[in-house]
Amino acid sequence: RAKGRGRNRFEYFSEALQAEVVHTKRVADEILSGLEREEFIAFYQPQFDARSHDLVGVEALVRWRHPVLGLRAPDAFLATAEDLNVMATIDRIVLEHALADLDRWESMGLKVPRASVNVSHRRLHDDALIESLEKLHIPPGRIAFELVESIYLDEDDAVIAHNIDQLKELGIEIEIDDFGTGYASIVSLQKLRPARLKIDRQLVDPILDDIGQRQLLASIVDIGKSMGIEVIAEGVESMAHAAILTELGCDILQGYAFARPMSRDDLEVFLGEQRWRRAS
Ligand code: C2E
Ligand code: MG
Ligand code: MG
Ligand code: MG
Repeated sequence: RAKGRGRNRFEYFSEALQAEVVHTKRVADEILSGLEREEFIAFYQPQFDARSHDLVGVEALVRWRHPVLGLRAPDAFLATAEDLNVMATIDRIVLEHALADLDRWESMGLKVPRASVNVSHRRLHDDALIESLEKLHIPPGRIAFELVESIYLDEDDAVIAHNIDQLKELGIEIEIDDFGTGYASIVSLQKLRPARLKIDRQLVDPILDDIGQRQLLASIVDIGKSMGIEVIAEGVESMAHAAILTELGCDILQGYAFARPMSRDDLEVFLGEQRWRRAS
């Protein structure tokens, strides 16, 4: 009996596994046709100066306008896209949207000083990256690349080191995303000299009722200050959070308390109405 049960369990797992494989395969096929049909677009989430509440930039976040399922967020497809080796392509598409939209906003008289785009490890590792960026004529100071801390694992990687230097030459600013969850050391920060750190929302969330977490956040801000690096808090979900973060010396705030990621058209309405000024 025990043996029988074991076999059943095995069959159960293998069925589940197979369903998973079939699902992943379907998502993979759909991503490829989605790329062909240009279904991947950028959404934008505004970022604000903590003290003045002026808009200082937007983070561009990929969305998939799926013909049947509607708007899909990254966790529905990023892992599969990574496996398919198309993340660098998706990053490029989002950057191209951001550049076109910065132009468009300028011609509309809407002030969006900067757009930050997320950059996958693969893309940063591409030795043709700089060449392809040069063709895009990126206006200096208007685009930032958000890199996750785990790129530090490869801090001695020659291609990455070279690319990061060259990005700065092109006037692209470097930001460390999800700071506090990964592997960054003080030394690697000194080497990389990013323009900004983005404190991960896992560290931001508990500051309302946890003094220890508040002190931790204050120390990160101090490290940033002493190195001339601006500090952004992500995942700011309430005005109570915003007030504490501002008091702790965070420079820039981004989160649902101010605005969710939104389509280009919605952002234009949002900017026109200056809605956040009335909310805060
Ligand atoms: P991330 O870069 O850390 O982006 C912040 C995520 O937090 C976004 O999720 C955003 O919608 C969400 N968020 C913003 N404010 C709040 C808040 O107040 N509360 C909470 N709970 N969440 C908030 P999203 O758009 O689903 O993106 C998830 C992740 O996918 C991103 O995390 C980033 O790592 C990745 N990603 C998104 N777009 C791209 C892209 O174009 N290229 C690459 N390589 N990765 C991307
Ligand atoms: Mg990001
Ligand atoms: Mg982040
Ligand atoms: Mg994050």
